[in-house]
Amino acid sequence: MKPDLVVIGGGLAGSEAAWQAAQRGLQVLLHEMRPKRPTGAHATDRLAELVCSNSLGSNLPDRASGVLKTELRTMGSFLLACAEETAVPAGGALAVDREAFAELVTERVQGHPRIELVRSEVERLPAGPAIVASGPLTSPALAADLQQWLGGPHLYFYDALAPIVEYESVDLSIAFRASRYGGVRYPTATI
Ligand SMILES: Cc1cc2nc3c(=O)[nH]c(=O)nc-3n(C[C@H](O)[C@H](O)[C@H](O)COP(=O)(O)OP(=O)(O)OC[C@H]3O[C@@H](n4cnc5c(N)ncnc54)[C@H](O)[C@@H]3O)c2cc1C
Repeated sequence: MKPDLVVIGGGLAGSEAAWQAAQRGLQVLLHEMRPKRPTGAHATDRLAELVCSNSLGSNLPDRASGVLKTELRTMGSFLLACAEETAVPAGGALAVDREAFAELVTERVQGHPRIELVRSEVERLPAGPAIVASGPLTSPALAADLQQWLGGPHLYFYDALAPIVEYESVDLSIAFRASRYGGVRYPTATI
């Protein structure tokens, strides 16, 4: 059957996108190239494999990533629900058992009646509606095709969770310092 939507990449973004579209009635074709074509960081054939930290950041309502989680929960995020089902103790953070998390996402995506999961590399952008969710380790062939479409010589990977902030740009009259793990706040004036 001709899909309504093609999703390229069954990582975190692609799994969520495929699920949300399918839940809204679209017939989704999800391409994941692993295990046929591995990346330099993924170690399994599972969808939504976390390649580094198993922490999804703070769960506290007064932290930016905690606010983001509240929004995602309100909007019915599929991945957040999977993360909460496979959570491990991590203080104020949401951390998961990475294997159980990826396994659960894979099982649910594969079991969705409107998602067809195909284990193949997409080398060129498809003609119809598509979401490119191939992540920072996009295969070289697709990256080359994207570069042609976008007209630039390079693609860039911005790590949203690790922005670089110039110290001089911080307004110290309202900023505070705190331990990442302890949660204790110190007025800047006392440091
Ligand atoms: C080594 C490393 C460490 C990282 N550590 C962290 C961290 O600790 N915390 C953090 O928040 N972020 C980290 N990141 C960033 C991390 O990759 C993203 O947070 C997250 O994985 C991005 O999700 P995504 O869905 O965009 O990409 P991914 O999770 O990488 O998913 C993309 C998927 O697309 C597939 N794919 C690629 N090309 C094709 C193709 N042509 N056809 C079909 N399938 C394709 C890949 O196999 C992959 O499964 C790290 C990245 C790397 C490379």
